[in-house]
Amino acid sequence: MSMRRLLSLVVAIVMMFSIVGTQLVVANAIGEPTVTVGSGTGERGEDVTLTIELSNNPGICAAQIWVHYAEGLVLKSATDSGLLAGAEFGGDKNANPYGLSWEDGTNAERADNTGNGTLVTLVFTIDPSAELGDHDVSVTYDSGDIYNMALEDVDFALVSGTVTVNCQHVNTEIRDNEEPSCNEPGYSGDTWCIDCETKIEDGIVISATGNHVDADGEWESDETHHFHTCSCSTEFDKFSHDYELAHNETSHFERCTVCGIEKEPEACSFGEWTYVEGANTHKKVCACGNFKEEDCDYDATHISGTNLHQGVCKVCEHSIESAACRLRVDATLPDEIGEIFVTTFSCAEECGNVTNNHWVKYGDISNDGKISVVDVIFILQIIGDLRSPDTVYCELGDVHQEVDDPAGFLNTMDAIALLRYLLTK
Ligand SMILES: [Zn+2]
Ligand SMILES: [Zn+2]
Ligand SMILES: [Zn+2]
Ligand SMILES: [Zn+2]
Ligand SMILES: [Zn+2]
Ligand SMILES: [Zn+2]
Repeated sequence: MSMRRLLSLVVAIVMMFSIVGTQLVVANAIGEPTVTVGSGTGERGEDVTLTIELSNNPGICAAQIWVHYAEGLVLKSATDSGLLAGAEFGGDKNANPYGLSWEDGTNAERADNTGNGTLVTLVFTIDPSAELGDHDVSVTYDSGDIYNMALEDVDFALVSGTVTVNCQHVNTEIRDNEEPSCNEPGYSGDTWCIDCETKIEDGIVISATGNHVDADGEWESDETHHFHTCSCSTEFDKFSHDYELAHNETSHFERCTVCGIEKEPEACSFGEWTYVEGANTHKKVCACGNFKEEDCDYDATHISGTNLHQGVCKVCEHSIESAACRLRVDATLPDEIGEIFVTTFSCAEECGNVTNNHWVKYGDISNDGKISVVDVIFILQIIGDLRSPDTVYCELGDVHQEVDDPAGFLNTMDAIALLRYLLTK
């Protein structure tokens, strides 16, 4: 015990009877005398300021209290507010607990200090490696270390504070993210701090892509539309059918140019027969493009006074003007080459051109009145396709009769027979 304290004790004993009065002062105070350590928050490396407050102070003249602070906090400064006189703080800031003391027992008025409010301001630096969360800062005092002018101990309740170390959320990761699909929305994911296991930021919904895919690429169709179907069962690229008229050999039908769907076929409906210019055929056409075409079937009519006839197609009524008659010998052919006989010529087209009572020589295919090498040449020309058999009297040259040899059919035997006849004459 210090001399000063001893002196105070002696004074106290002298003033024994005044104890009752002091007790009254304590009783009159509103609430319990309390030393309260404030609280603060900060991040690693930051400074946090806390205060130590006095409340319901019944009057004291001296106090020594100790500040205890948790690992991870470094005491940077402790500043006396001047609320109590005679402050004397521990020199070593690293001391834990750190001592704070006030001694005003010898002031001139010998008056206790009844001030309330901020006693000390403490600044802690949060260590960069401090754990996250609450770090206690508390005060204690030894029994007998807070007293008044009467050297009476004054009890104070003690309330601890905390320095809450907040995370800076430096190390983060995205959780619960999900890619959007063609028809389901996705999620960008929540941002979590892996140091403090705190969700820092909510993600956002990502719209479905709408990029539907048809696995087989084939069109599907219903009565009115064609479309593709995605594995998610969404129908997309849905359009009305685009029909064109298609046909097979006998019927036509509407077919979609895109998906190929076909409607019921209908029999083709051909129009009128029309002559095909220059082809001697006639043709009838359906709107679908199907057509029928066949050779004209001419009905020959003799042009009188000529060896010509005109032909009119029985179907399309196309007429051929001035076709040469194909005159044929209408008589039983004689047996011997050179024999003269009477015959009728008639047109093979049955146009009605008939000329009667002609005297001809059997073998005179050229019909020039005599049998000569000219006739042999005619026969050879017809055999060699150098002359049309339609233009001459082939029956007159068909001088070599064989079995199954139709009248007028010429071959080399006819030429040889005619030549032999000329050589032996
Ligand atoms: Zn964090
Ligand atoms: Zn889809
Ligand atoms: Zn279609
Ligand atoms: Zn048709
Ligand atoms: Zn015709
Ligand atoms: Zn004719």
